[in-house]
Amino acid sequence: MARLSNNYQTEGKPPMKSTGVVRKIDELGRIVLPSELRRVFGIHEGDELEISVSGDQVILQKRQDLCTFCGAENPEIDYKDRRVCANCASELGKQVRLEVKLPDETTVGR
Ligand SMILES: [Zn+2]
Repeated sequence: MARLSNNYQTEGKPPMKSTGVVRKIDELGRIVLPSELRRVFGIHEGDELEISVSGDQVILQKRQDLCTFCGAENPEIDYKDRRVCANCASELGKQVRLEVKLPDETTVGR
């Protein structure tokens, strides 16, 4: 059976429910996440939330700590605000060495 898929992976997740909390947006478009929600979801100051939309709904998701390239969890390396796992960093290193031709050291200084 054909099935439409989306990026939100709603399968297996409980149906969306209202928290009953209503917040006003301030003049700069900001809202305050209720502390109870922050506590339940383990959201702390400085954490990043990814904003997505689904139909007419705005969805906030705590940004997963995943490798920028392969999606592996808990990447070890932090490079220019991107998280990269050791495997990808290593592969990237090999790639760069193959693609960048360094000046031939034997001809330098002759
Ligand atoms: Zn990776």
